[in-house]
Amino acid sequence: MKEKIPTRIYLTEEEMPKFWYNLRADMKDKPEPMLHPGTLKPVTADDLAPVFCKSVIDQELDETTRLVPIPEAIQDFYRAYRPSPLIRAYYLEKALGTPAEIYYKFEGTNTSGSHKLNSAGPQAYFAKEAGLTSLTTETGAGQWGTAMAMACAFYDLKLIVYMVKVSSEQKPYRKALIETYGAHLIPSPSNTTESGKKILASDPNTGGSLGCAISEAIETAVKTDKCRYVLGSVLNHVLLHQSVIGLEAKTALDRYGIKPDIIIGCAGGGSNLGGLLSPFMGDKLAGKSNTRFIAVEPASCPSFTRGRFAYDFGDTAKTTPLIKMKTLGNGFIPSANHAGGLRYHGMNSTLSKLHNDGFLEARAETQTDVFDAAIRFMKVEGILPAPESSHAIKAAIDEALVCKKTGEKKVILFGLSGTGFFDMTAFASYSDKTMNDYIPTDADLERGFATIPSI
Ligand SMILES: *Cc1c(COP(=O)(O)O)cnc(C)c1O
Repeated sequence: MKEKIPTRIYLTEEEMPKFWYNLRADMKDKPEPMLHPGTLKPVTADDLAPVFCKSVIDQELDETTRLVPIPEAIQDFYRAYRPSPLIRAYYLEKALGTPAEIYYKFEGTNTSGSHKLNSAGPQAYFAKEAGLTSLTTETGAGQWGTAMAMACAFYDLKLIVYMVKVSSEQKPYRKALIETYGAHLIPSPSNTTESGKKILASDPNTGGSLGCAISEAIETAVKTDKCRYVLGSVLNHVLLHQSVIGLEAKTALDRYGIKPDIIIGCAGGGSNLGGLLSPFMGDKLAGKSNTRFIAVEPASCPSFTRGRFAYDFGDTAKTTPLIKMKTLGNGFIPSANHAGGLRYHGMNSTLSKLHNDGFLEARAETQTDVFDAAIRFMKVEGILPAPESSHAIKAAIDEALVCKKTGEKKVILFGLSGTGFFDMTAFASYSDKTMNDYIPTDADLERGFATIPSI
């Protein structure tokens, strides 16, 4: 008789990953290099040195090393909250009446509430190792700011978090948590930087934006001695750190001889999906599997499904290197809604390339449909999902219902990137039926595309 798969699968200490996996090394057609916006030549480590810490720059530019050793100290950091559970969704399968097997990797068990701690820990460690004393970053929805505050507390580094002003007002408990871990939180725009002052002078009542918070964080990092800037998504070194998600999931499934037919993740800047799919995509590129991969994004911010594949800036102030990616334009402003962490105009360059080359599918979902799926899931599985993660739930349920029609017994794996404990305002607006399902018109998108530089 076949062994019954446990509801929760945890790795043993010996099974835990000792290396991160760099998917780019196994791609025959690699993502285009980042370009210096002045010279339009590929960026060098020296170009990035004033902003980022050396170890992460080396990882960012390295597209040949397949397996990057996880320093012993970071393996130890991970031990505080990993392995994360791989959960067989027996209750959801039963509720849907599907013959499909559904699994999800749950990254919301640490206090920051999401997968972001997987990269916050390494980035703080590399900064400490390099002799830096402080870091700066920005946060929108607040998960990244919390994860960095935790990591900097652990490694005894000072941290300044520029939090988008409206978010700091709308999510007071996120702000309190970041400050309780010891970070210095500054609502952005602020008068602590030239870029902040400039924006305040032209619009004193602005609620701020992620693009503005990024500019303030970079400016402060560059001006401060022994200080650098850290980013929680989009870049390839973040994907590298997040590969622990996929490596753990693959080891757990391999133990039972399970091969996923479909892998699904939500996509904001692409880090949780990229981390989950990396080792499985490596197998697909090597011709060893025929797995389908699906990115799910909000219909309000559809970078994959309606964006252009072009070189664009990572921030609205146009200060970053140019990245070849699926983008809505650095000036694209999504409608105010609750998909929080998924409201970014661009997408990681590796995932953009895989999408463009036909290895990664994408779909966009409206918010109400996503919350319908979240509630269906949480009522039977018990876990309160983050609104971002619920995009993946929606697609997993849809695929399981296709199996119900066809009778196919497919194996579906999805990433549950976080919990929704700090998102109850969004769940309340779903219950009140005041949720906003605005989908940008083609004219809205054209305004964003017009901000993509022509090079
Ligand atoms: C930040 C965040 C996301 C989106 O970011 P990615 O880099 O695309 O993973 C998704 N889910 C949760 C819970 C987040 O905190």
